Amino acid sequence: MALKPYFIGAHVSAAGGVENAPLNAHELGANAFALFTKNQRRWEAKPLTSRSIKLFKERCEKLGFMPEQILPHDSYLINLGHPDAEALEKSRRAFIDEMQRCEQLGLCYLNFHPGSHLRKIPESECLARIAESINLALEATAGVKALIETTAGQGSNLGHRFEQVAHIIAQVDDQSRVGVCIDTCHIHAAGYALRTEADCEATFDSFANIVGFDYLYAMHLNDAKVEQGSRVDRHQSLGQGEIGWPVFQYIMQDDRFRGIPLVLETIDETLWKEEIQALRSFAH
Ligand SMILES: [Zn+2]
Ligand SMILES: [Zn+2]
Repeated sequence: MALKPYFIGAHVSAAGGVENAPLNAHELGANAFALFTKNQRRWEAKPLTSRSIKLFKERCEKLGFMPEQILPHDSYLINLGHPDAEALEKSRRAFIDEMQRCEQLGLCYLNFHPGSHLRKIPESECLARIAESINLALEATAGVKALIETTAGQGSNLGHRFEQVAHIIAQVDDQSRVGVCIDTCHIHAAGYALRTEADCEATFDSFANIVGFDYLYAMHLNDAKVEQGSRVDRHQSLGQGEIGWPVFQYIMQDDRFRGIPLVLETIDETLWKEEIQALRSFAH
C-alpha cells in the first residue's frame, strides 16, 4: 500500500465565517489546518448557517482538504472534568454542541483539552468525569472522533502524563471514536524529553507503550518558550525555543506521523509559510 502523505498546516483564522478557514490554509501552502468553529472564548454561539456549511464544504473539496486533514479545536472554556455538577453540565452541553458543529461541517475530529480538577476532587475522579463526558458526547453524535490533547499540566489541568490519557481512553465505551492529539510544546513542558533524536525515540516509545500509536490522530507542532518540565504552556516558533529542530525532523522522517494533521500553533503567524516549507523539506 502506498504511504500516506504528511499533512502539514496551521491553526488558521475563521474570522468572518468557518468558510474562510480553508482559504487561509490554502494561502499558506498547507495541506492541513485547524480551526475554531465558534468564538473560543464564549459559551454562546449562533448556529452555523446553511450557507457557511455549504461554502466550507465546497472550498475544502476544491482546495483538496479532506476531513482527515482538518482538526477543529473546541472552546477554552469547556472543562469536561469539572468538580461542580452544574458547571460540568454546562461544559458537557457546550461540548456536544461543538461535536454537532463538526458533524454539520462533515468533519471527523474534535480536538479538546481533557479537563481540570481545580483541586476539588481527586485526579482519578476527574479522569472518570472526563471519560463519562466523552461517552455522553459520542452517544449524542455520529461520525466525529473526540481527540484528547496532551497538556502542559499547567495549574490543575490533567492530560500531562500519557498514563492519564490512557486512563481516560480505557473508560470510554466506544474506543473507535476516541483518540489523541500530541502537542510537542505541551509534552516538553510536562517533562517529556524531545531535544535529541534519542530523546524523541524514548518519548515516543513511551507513548507507544502506554497509549499506542493506533490512537494518534493529530499533532500540534510547537516549540516552547519554557524549560522541559516547567508545566507552563508557552508556545514558540519552530527552532527558536527550548526544544529546537530535531523533534520536527524526527516527526517528518517517521511514517507513524503520516496521514494525520500536523498543525502549527506557533506564535508568529508571518512565519507559518516558512515553517511549513521547512517541515516539508525534512520529509524523506
Ligand atoms: Zn495544542
Ligand atoms: Zn498550548
